[in-house]
Amino acid sequence: MKLFIVATPIGNLDDITARAKEVLAEVDLIAAEDTRHSATLMQHLGIKTPLVAYHDHNEREASSGLIDKIQHGTSVALISDAGTPLISDPGYRIVELAHARGIPVIPIPGPSALIAGLSASGLPTDRFLFVGFIPAKTAARKKSLEEVSGQQATLVFYESRHRILASLADMKSVLGADRPATIGRELTKKFEEIRHGTLGELFELVSSGSITSKGEFVVMVAGTTEIESNYEHVSLLKALLKELPPRKAAGLAGQITGLPKKLFYELSLALKHDKKD
Ligand code: SAM
Repeated sequence: MKLFIVATPIGNLDDITARAKEVLAEVDLIAAEDTRHSATLMQHLGIKTPLVAYHDHNEREASSGLIDKIQHGTSVALISDAGTPLISDPGYRIVELAHARGIPVIPIPGPSALIAGLSASGLPTDRFLFVGFIPAKTAARKKSLEEVSGQQATLVFYESRHRILASLADMKSVLGADRPATIGRELTKKFEEIRHGTLGELFELVSSGSITSKGEFVVMVAGTTEIESNYEHVSLLKALLKELPPRKAAGLAGQITGLPKKLFYELSLALKHDKKD
């Protein structure tokens, strides 16, 4: 028997895939984050498969119970309240255990706010870092933003209505008000809104109420284009320049950080120039 990981809509119920419907109707059990919430979707789809609870608080016990059932011939589909399971949602334990016990894990792909938002962001998508939810308290949130501030990949955050304004304020101060960014609000729903601008502009729009803070949010922020903005990178280069000529120091800094050595070479020339001034 198999474990199916089934994506469900993030708002618009028509986004359920034909394969998801088929699998949910055919399996013996559906493990759902909130059985009452998922019962509404199943009713809409006309699916009568029994639902069992699988959520953050029972993930460990529920996983081993469900895996035992699968090994005894029961087929199980895992769903979350919305979107793709395991993407800022429970499921990691059961998938890990399924692999450990040699049970095939079959993904049934479909909606995810992460990919929907990114695809409409107008920001580079060749490399992105899914940061997901950041801490609720300002000090911890700023620290986690500092950790990703030097990334060149586009950053993707999930945020709730309660914290969108405070998070945008911290993003603006840590990542910089001029960074291009996109807010995706209520994606696929009736009041869907996708706004592109700088972090400073988007903060003003939410702060003034031009973008309401109601609903669910994905925030995408362009990666940095300047290594100068990353304190660790600059310190590394300075340390290497004490021992090595610029070209060698830049090459080594590039190898250590995975960033283009050209950027470090340009920075070493600028640092040398600054010293002369
Ligand atoms: N597993 C889901 C997925 O694949 O996108 C994410 C679940 S996570 C618990 C919920 C968060 O996802 C929300 O707080 C919000 O940040 C984001 N989200 C979910 N649906 C959304 C939507 N329709 N529009 C914008 N963001 C959404």
